[in-house]
Amino acid sequence: MFNKEMQTLGEERSVIRELFEYGARRKREIGAENVFDFSLGNPGVPAPACVEEEILRLLREVPGQVLHGYTSAPGLYEVRKAVADDLKSRFGADTDPDLVYMTCGASASLTVALCALCNAGDEVIVIAPFFPEYRVFIEGAGGKCVVVPSGKGFRPDLSALEGAITARTKAVIVNSPNNPTGVVYSEEEIEGIARVLRRASEARGEPVYLLADEPYRELTYGKTPPFVPNFYKETLVLYSFSKSLSLAGERIGYLSVPKNCAGAKELFAAISGAGRRLGFVCAPALFQRAVSVCLGRTADLGVYRENRDLLYGALVRFGYECVSPDGAFYLFVKSPEPDAKAFSERAKKFELLLVPSDSFGVPGYVRISYCVERSVIEHSLPAFGKLMEEYRK
Ligand code: PLP
Repeated sequence: MFNKEMQTLGEERSVIRELFEYGARRKREIGAENVFDFSLGNPGVPAPACVEEEILRLLREVPGQVLHGYTSAPGLYEVRKAVADDLKSRFGADTDPDLVYMTCGASASLTVALCALCNAGDEVIVIAPFFPEYRVFIEGAGGKCVVVPSGKGFRPDLSALEGAITARTKAVIVNSPNNPTGVVYSEEEIEGIARVLRRASEARGEPVYLLADEPYRELTYGKTPPFVPNFYKETLVLYSFSKSLSLAGERIGYLSVPKNCAGAKELFAAISGAGRRLGFVCAPALFQRAVSVCLGRTADLGVYRENRDLLYGALVRFGYECVSPDGAFYLFVKSPEPDAKAFSERAKKFELLLVPSDSFGVPGYVRISYCVERSVIEHSLPAFGKLMEEYRK
């Protein structure tokens, strides 16, 4: 008999995907322009020109059998060197090509890191609200997902974090800029988390690791996210080009370990072992090469800022309550009724597809992905207004 747990995982549809499928059906029925689909975090702007230019150059100049062949498992050395140099020049990072592992996006960076770190029954702390796949990835690595609430304004609550640490805590995942709140952690907050983890590591006599999940690093609106390893050396940076370069479908990212992280070399060996166990032979070769010349560049992210300003401003005027996001491309909006699923259902009557927050570990909110075309936001505004009026009757 096959694995029932995997069957359940495959059959249990994510709320986000379910809404997206519903939207696709609805668009066929009433026309795409009449459905306001805010469900998925799929980048809505094209990749920057440097990606296409480099791919065309590679196709012209590099023989196919070389270009499309296997690379070494952690990635091409020159690509890993370019990543390490970029991290050093932008953030003063102390890393090295031998400590950079190219992956199939942040999801793979997470699964590889968790598999490298966790022994059966180890605990991994996530801060709610959190990316729902964290639980799947942690449990897949044999770990236990421990959820810690965030504080006011969805900022990290250091005493809740400290209180959740046990002798089995192996790692804490931080995600800033955050999906789904858009919150960007400050230097003081990262330093506070680092202090808590240093105390815990000292008490245990072995490090509690920090996993900095950063697919939205460059998607910020004025605030610069601190580079986490500069505050806590036992930090694994889990990066993805899905959002910054609008390459979500191409599956490319990396994982990096600081040189001064305790046992860096052995940890990197465990990362390579985890990649092997999970069958990541190597990250896509063409895109390893393409992203290596686009490091530090981005798609036109200004579009998201304009979307944010337009939608946030309108929702607040209508009377919705939400945190003003400093990064990523999501609004986390308080449901006007306690049950976010009921609110999301009611929103469907106005053809608004909003993701209820329950699977993010916090009840009573909806997530709105504003990485959509401007016209979707513009045309959706009357519907948001009418939806709020329902609660004023
Ligand atoms: N982590 C967070 C917080 C995300 O929001 C996402 C994707 O939306 C991922 C990880 C996975 O990113 P990738 O597409 O690079 O696998």
